[in-house]
Amino acid sequence: MSVVVVGSIAFDAVKTPFGERERLLGGSAVHFSLAASFFTDVRVVGPVGDDFGEAEYEVLHSRGVNTDDIEHVKGGKTFFWAGEYEWNVNVRHTLDTQLNVFGDFQPKLSDATKQAEVLFLANIQPDLQRDVREQCTGAKLAGLDSMNFWIETTRDSLLRTIGTVDLILMNDDEVRMLTEEPTLLRAARKIMELGPRVVVVKQGEYGASLFTDDGFFSLPAYPLESVIDPTGAGDSFAGGFFGYIDAQGGATDEATLRRALTYGSAVASFWVEEFGCERAQHLTRDDIEERYEAFRAMTSVEGVPAA
Ligand code: AMP
Repeated sequence: MSVVVVGSIAFDAVKTPFGERERLLGGSAVHFSLAASFFTDVRVVGPVGDDFGEAEYEVLHSRGVNTDDIEHVKGGKTFFWAGEYEWNVNVRHTLDTQLNVFGDFQPKLSDATKQAEVLFLANIQPDLQRDVREQCTGAKLAGLDSMNFWIETTRDSLLRTIGTVDLILMNDDEVRMLTEEPTLLRAARKIMELGPRVVVVKQGEYGASLFTDDGFFSLPAYPLESVIDPTGAGDSFAGGFFGYIDAQGGATDEATLRRALTYGSAVASFWVEEFGCERAQHLTRDDIEERYEAFRAMTSVEGVPAA
């Protein structure tokens, strides 16, 4: 099977207390694709400009990501985002967002992409997410992420798009902002009333929680000595989560969802160890499995598991 993702393909300028980079390959769809590629085949949808060259394609191709649905807009400029993190890296400030080629992008998807069974609408303009959702008639499982920028500027469209997906995966602050509910449980219920049957809430350094009709599951983040750049943590989490689900044939039973959440957390914990998506370039599936096992040991309530 393969998972399809639409989202931003970007250049990022990032400043953290531990360093600064002016031009990193980034974007929600890029982080997602690279992370999901450790589990399954990935097809990425989105536009890029003239500044997106061979070196950038090579990062995706070296992980086997299919780029047939990346549209090169002649004379255009790639999406650009600039952000800065505080000493508490859970706090991020957006300094600049330039949509550029996303301004009037109209996706024309290949047949293979339309037929994929798992679809992720990563963070981008919600009209565009809905357009892709409608074209992907083969998708049996569709998920969505969004952020404060779109909640503030395109709220109604976002609510409509949420009504077309099975699963939501968003930050805790953004879930509260979207639903105007003070607790995550009430917020999750409100989202479920809009359509999705699964709500995954990302809580940055504090982990992630899963809300379904059958119950609740929560996992801390992997404890790291140092975090260099949190950019892409959420998207790489989503990539690990959906990549694993796609590799299980799109299953969404409670046990698969819990494992997917654990794989997402394991992948995200590597992502933040270096700037942008650089860690992906020397990460292996064995590294991910090792951290998955560490999560099992770390979260066992009934005593310490045998070494
Ligand atoms: P996260 O996984 O939440 O850290 O997302 C980081 C990525 O989101 C960066 O690589 C940015 O390029 C991208 N991004 C930032 N703002 C937006 C936006 N308004 N729409 C889509 N993508 C964005």
